[in-house]
Amino acid sequence: MEINKKGMDCLHFINGAYVSSQEPGTFDNINPASEEVIGQIEDGGKADVDLAVKAAKAAFDNGWKHSKISERAAILRKIGDLILERKDELAMLETMDTGKPLWLSTNVDIPRSAGSYHFYANFISTMGTEAYPMEVGAMNFVVRRPLGVVGMINPWNLPLLLLSAKLAPCLAMGNTVVLKPARWTPMTATLLGEICKEAGLPDGVINIVNGAGRSVGEAIAEHPDIRAIAFTGETSTGKSIMRAGAANLKRLSFELGGKNPNIIFADCDLDEVVETSLRSSFINQGAVCLCGSRIYVQRPIYEQFVQKFVARTRQQIVGDPLQPNTNVGALISKQHYERVLEYIELARQEGGIIETGGKRAEGQDRGYYVEPTIITGVDRNCRVVNEEIFGPVVTIQPFDTEEEVIQYANGTHYGLSASVWTKDSSRAFRVAQQIEAGLTWINTWFLRDPRTPYGGEKQSGIGRQGGMFSLDFYSEVSTICIKY
Ligand code: NAD
Repeated sequence: MEINKKGMDCLHFINGAYVSSQEPGTFDNINPASEEVIGQIEDGGKADVDLAVKAAKAAFDNGWKHSKISERAAILRKIGDLILERKDELAMLETMDTGKPLWLSTNVDIPRSAGSYHFYANFISTMGTEAYPMEVGAMNFVVRRPLGVVGMINPWNLPLLLLSAKLAPCLAMGNTVVLKPARWTPMTATLLGEICKEAGLPDGVINIVNGAGRSVGEAIAEHPDIRAIAFTGETSTGKSIMRAGAANLKRLSFELGGKNPNIIFADCDLDEVVETSLRSSFINQGAVCLCGSRIYVQRPIYEQFVQKFVARTRQQIVGDPLQPNTNVGALISKQHYERVLEYIELARQEGGIIETGGKRAEGQDRGYYVEPTIITGVDRNCRVVNEEIFGPVVTIQPFDTEEEVIQYANGTHYGLSASVWTKDSSRAFRVAQQIEAGLTWINTWFLRDPRTPYGGEKQSGIGRQGGMFSLDFYSEVSTICIKY
């Protein structure tokens, strides 16, 4: 792909080559930090998805399903290496697409993406399988075969990182893929086609179709030759994909929305919790699915926490993502920017007090910048406390007892993650066990071991990713029973 100073045009990548849509059409890719057009994106549709699935099916049947583990591991390792070699270029593209600070793309998004390929290269090279002996003189072996063609539908907030967390285990198990980047953030995913080819991935194993959710996304969700869908995005989109996939009973892995509680007891290390809350509230403009957007503080330290947290938040630098001292960049699109401001207005109508922020960031003529915003004075029934805003906006509410805060924490239909802050380890464990979340941190946040299960409870997801959990999803697990 040709990359220029502004960005790049994004074609589809089908059967090992970059191609235009069957029905010609493109849309503008806009840099949310400058509102400049940085490229044209193919506006794909059903015909492009059909071609991609055909290529993926042929690549699966013609060899990839029989590929050796050592071959797949070597290719995955090479993909990871090439991503690291091109780290600066990929980081710049990620920042131009998303508006996130360049230091974040460089230090988190891109290296963590590479890490997924390296991790699964090692994982499949050393993994064994289960065997269950029976006293009657029989042995049951568990075997795993690839599924076939897998569809992947991705969000805009961590484009290459989240895509890689799915793609690496999917390829590791010998599947082929048709994937769709978010329409707002196609550049790094599109470039991944070239990287995979250079790493030696056979043509047709990975296919990338650009376009809108309603066309490309729906065509993937409905396609009869796609066996499984790995989707990350909004809960409402997940429901629609589930309906579309029901026709041929597709296997589903869903990583959906969240409204994660950050529970702070009076015996916490206050300075540490203030610093971590800054990150867990506003990193990536508050658009990490694991961000803690509902902060609950025990009453004895409530005022002190609010005061310190507001003071530190006011020091956050909002603006040009290319500047190394920028803390908070631009929101992904004009639509999202307006939606976040609408939520802040709603908080005012619901009786909320805007402790800081609450408006467009000052000093920015162009770009979709919103100040980090802290809201107090809202109660548990307010929409801003229950609905995912996915922007730099958090609420803080006081609580008195453990029982009360557990009830608050579990009071939404989401259940993705939580963090609990206390020096009392018995309490920490007692509370964590009662929180309805796929992942609960104690005295930390965003610390992830790739071997552990990751996913959401309730309407935050279906299934778990990570280590063996991902490999189980991307494979048909069957039993061979031998009588001896
Ligand atoms: P989104 O649901 O709007 O879009 C995600 C993807 O789905 C995009 O590629 C989009 O084009 C596609 N899509 C849209 N409508 C579709 C349809 N009808 N059929 C098929 N595909 C369709 O989500 P988003 O705004 O890109 O991402 C933000 C959301 O993702 C937030 O809710 C966030 O919490 C969630 N998220 C969750 C996790 C997690 O691990 N649980 C991680 C990141 C983001």
